[in-house]
Amino acid sequence: MKKLKKVAKWLGLVMLVVALLGGGFYMIYLRPFIQKMKVVQTIQYDKDLTIVIGGGGNSGIITSDSLVIVVDTKMDEAAQELYNKVKAIAGNKAVLVVNTHFHPDHVGGNKLYSGATVLAGANYGKEGWIKEAGEQSLPNKWLSERLDIKMGDDTVSIINYGKNAHTESDVFVYSHKRKLLFGGDVILNKQCPIIMGKGRARGYLEAFNYLQTNFDIKHVVPGHGEFGGAEVIEDYYTYFKDMKLAAADASQKDALLNKYAGWNSIPFVMSPKATLKAFGKEGE
Ligand SMILES: [Zn+2]
Repeated sequence: MKKLKKVAKWLGLVMLVVALLGGGFYMIYLRPFIQKMKVVQTIQYDKDLTIVIGGGGNSGIITSDSLVIVVDTKMDEAAQELYNKVKAIAGNKAVLVVNTHFHPDHVGGNKLYSGATVLAGANYGKEGWIKEAGEQSLPNKWLSERLDIKMGDDTVSIINYGKNAHTESDVFVYSHKRKLLFGGDVILNKQCPIIMGKGRARGYLEAFNYLQTNFDIKHVVPGHGEFGGAEVIEDYYTYFKDMKLAAADASQKDALLNKYAGWNSIPFVMSPKATLKAFGKEGE
């Protein structure tokens, strides 16, 4: 009996320490990150394109005389705000929602767009989607290859990349007239990636190569972080090449990791070290 009491006391102490550590992790790393994520900034790029940064994944609203394309629907209050904006812009026009991938911070607002076409990459399958993002956000149309849509004097290409990079069915949206790419979470601006599920560090490198070979990109809306130019892809390409090198060459590891000390990160899950580890695990 005495022994049991002792064990219980120890267990209580261990649980308290774990809770304190967990709470500390939340306060120090997660809370500032979540707060930052909630800040929303609207950029009127031109009369037919509105870019909405933050509030979950970055979004875009592209208009023509008859159609409004919404790229990613955000989460929580920001999803409702984006929806209100889309409603005001679209009026009675048809709405096509495009999801760059199935993570909840990019598809949380899907449920608001009743009557709209909601399009996402086909590789997830219905069950895979529901498991990751829930039934409420389920798309009603799946894209297995590519869709080109005439939007006034522009053509907007929606491409299911579909080769495991950030996920197994990343979708890119490219405006030919503007030479502007929505990269989803395959391209982030000064933020480390989260590589999980079917995501592959090497897949990112292949995706950057694919994008630079097939598209003339001058402007980039990343999945998270500020809107920018072609350097946003170039920087992310360099980051991944650096982490691949760091995984292979211990003598350069520290210097390469330190290069990205100023980037948005969360220890263990979203950090240069985590990316390096992903390269190590994938092998050659
Ligand atoms: Zn994501």
